[in-house]
Amino acid sequence: MRLLIMGPPGAGKGTQAAVISQRLGVPHISTGDLFRANLAQGTALGQEAKKYMDAGEYVPDSVTNGMVRERLREEDARDGFLLDGYPRTVQQVAELDGMLAGKELDRVIELTADTDAIVGRLMNRSLQQGRADDTEEVIRRRLEVYEEQTAPLTQLYKTRGVLVNVDGLGEVADITERIFTALNA
Ligand code: AMP
Repeated sequence: MRLLIMGPPGAGKGTQAAVISQRLGVPHISTGDLFRANLAQGTALGQEAKKYMDAGEYVPDSVTNGMVRERLREEDARDGFLLDGYPRTVQQVAELDGMLAGKELDRVIELTADTDAIVGRLMNRSLQQGRADDTEEVIRRRLEVYEEQTAPLTQLYKTRGVLVNVDGLGEVADITERIFTALNA
């Protein structure tokens, strides 16, 4: 299965993606995680990405697309994957279409959550994980950027007939069940 999980920052994409990829036996490919791993290893790509991440802005496509292209070429992604956080713009959708060369996404899961719940969750995560981009100001900017640049992608995938909407509020296990029910429908 070739899957994408999307939703505003704090909707629980990362948590659900980890569970789903494990159950389906496909790699979880998160661009945010790849950037953070690069940063931890001190690579040039990581240093470059950090400038944007810390401000709540998207990392330029010149950095992001190549990183995803390479990751998708790895052996473990040959028979399926779960993308998390990519594509995030209309241009990235076009890039991904090119990378997949006709092997389109089977399903796009949109996790929905309201803004108040999201800000609360992210403030909590900042206490637990200390992510530099989880301050209130940056959170607000990330939500804005999501609305402007990423939310429109749901319409695009809806038109392609692959979108499934899942309510992202509630217990982690309940949300996972909702996702599998939606995928099997
Ligand atoms: P995430 O862990 O998915 O919340 O991503 C953390 C940050 O990484 C985002 O706020 C962006 O700065 C950057 N990022 C992740 N994925 C992308 C992408 N597809 N395009 C541009 N920037 C991205």
